[in-house]
Amino acid sequence: MEDPTNIDESVAVCPICESNLKKGERIHSAVFPGENERIVYVYGCPYCYKKINSYKFNIDKLDPKKVKKRACPVCSGRLKENDYLIGKMWDTEVKTHLRVIGCIKCRKHNN
Ligand SMILES: [Zn+2]
Ligand SMILES: [Zn+2]
Repeated sequence: MEDPTNIDESVAVCPICESNLKKGERIHSAVFPGENERIVYVYGCPYCYKKINSYKFNIDKLDPKKVKKRACPVCSGRLKENDYLIGKMWDTEVKTHLRVIGCIKCRKHNN
């Protein structure tokens, strides 16, 4: 696997918890290299993914009630702390697009 990287800031809504991301708040993801369309694993944003600790915004300092629920937008299943979504990412001239195709649970049944 590639080193974890971050999706472009133009992805403004977290697909896992639906938080609106402010400038500088990024979705933690792992992108697999490809020509144009890349496979991407989406782990979450600073509001729902605790392992993000390189950000100014540290979720561990939040009230636990404020930690957002993590769910798959495709099957609505709850995602555990380390679960991730699988998506496809591609670039156009204006922005980087991300389309979620499922989580590790619902993708198993579709393969
Ligand atoms: Zn999130
Ligand atoms: Zn799912």
